[in-house]
Amino acid sequence: MVIVDELLQSVARRAAGYLEGIRERRVGPAPEAVEALKVFREPMPEKPTAAEEVVRLLDENGSPATMGISGPRFFGFVIGGSLPAALGANWLASAWDQNAGLFAASPVSALLEEVALEWLLEVLALPAGSGGAFVTGATMANFTALAAARHAVLERAGWDVEARGLYGAPAIQVIVSEEAHPSVFKSLGLLGLGRERVHRVPVDNQGRMLADRIPHVEGPAIVCLQAGNVNSGAFDPALEICRRARKMGAWIHVDGAFGLWAAASAELRHLITGTAEADSWATDAHKWLNVPYDSGLAFVRDPEQLRRAMTLTAAYLPQGDHREPSQYVPELSRRARGVDIWAALKSLGREGLAELVDRNCRCARRFAEGLRRAGFTILNDVVLNQVLVSFGSPEETGRAITAIQQDGTCWCGGTLWQQQHAMRISVSSWATTEQDVDRSLEAVLSAVRAAPAR
Ligand SMILES: *Cc1c(COP(=O)(O)O)cnc(C)c1O
Repeated sequence: MVIVDELLQSVARRAAGYLEGIRERRVGPAPEAVEALKVFREPMPEKPTAAEEVVRLLDENGSPATMGISGPRFFGFVIGGSLPAALGANWLASAWDQNAGLFAASPVSALLEEVALEWLLEVLALPAGSGGAFVTGATMANFTALAAARHAVLERAGWDVEARGLYGAPAIQVIVSEEAHPSVFKSLGLLGLGRERVHRVPVDNQGRMLADRIPHVEGPAIVCLQAGNVNSGAFDPALEICRRARKMGAWIHVDGAFGLWAAASAELRHLITGTAEADSWATDAHKWLNVPYDSGLAFVRDPEQLRRAMTLTAAYLPQGDHREPSQYVPELSRRARGVDIWAALKSLGREGLAELVDRNCRCARRFAEGLRRAGFTILNDVVLNQVLVSFGSPEETGRAITAIQQDGTCWCGGTLWQQQHAMRISVSSWATTEQDVDRSLEAVLSAVRAAPAR
């Protein structure tokens, strides 16, 4: 295995060099680097290429065209970096090449998922014993949890949706907020519940659902609430929503892609009050837990509802004494996602996780203060890790974002927040420090001042 040994040593050197460089390199890739990607456009090769050469091509042409997401000053899209332990575990798990679908195919992966699930329920303050699904992201987590919801509310109405489909089934009333994440609507579409066949509840100026505007519905119903708005970071009033939804006998689902992690911090835990009353939850591990992509999590209070919605076939697989991973997710074969998650939680511990979440939120407040002091308008209450800033008119804000991205010291994207154009700053990486915020603020302010007036 000399060849593999040399190859992996060289990959490790290249990756370490990349991660070292990313701290000082511009965050967004230079346009020339993106342009140079055209070297990859070649006909399917006839002849083999040595592995070492394949990796060299990838590093030399690919690395410069990456977005610096693993660096400390990437503030786009609420997505974190990769913790060193999670990255290392991910590499090792790739070397293992485990098929995480079946206990028999990978006892280590199945066991680490079980352990990670228990730890996750604890740090996210969700009911012990809930079922869990290790999926690709919060979109699939929403889908998976809502499939369990669909199963449960129709079963109560005497309908077996997995066997009979939705043809002739009792109608399900779905209640979401105006500010639900697009992935919730996509999930509803995939499940045959319809992207548009929903009650949309209005929101307040932070994007929080107005609980007293939830319609009273009869029969099978699902209420979706949000813990952490993707723009403002605001939380729907879970306690009040759950109280109303319970009265109607509805299933309650929480999209907490990043917001659920507020539970890890003693300072922020109050934000999720009432969330644990729900029946299912979706979150991401590749966002605030800082594990490599793709890693999302669905939790369902009653594991049996999740299993019945996701089971492959009742008879196909032997059910031993242990948790059979494929019984709880849409996929059969898949990678060992639980390994990275276990490694992240093990390396951080409760204290490290709380410190990460608290520090990111402190950094967000520091951004907001600095921008306000410079005379710009912060559009949201900075309750979590999200900051929305306006630099003036839509054109001025647009030009500012372009100038900031071109400068490259940090990276932030644009968004539309309640009809206002804004730049969104999401602080969600383990690598980000107060110094990174100060350095970014300085670059942002000088880029905005130097931006062409029109
Ligand atoms: C990011 C996000 C999603 C989608 O997550 P993916 O991991 O990209 O699929 C869903 N809901 C909210 C609130 C999010 O922030």
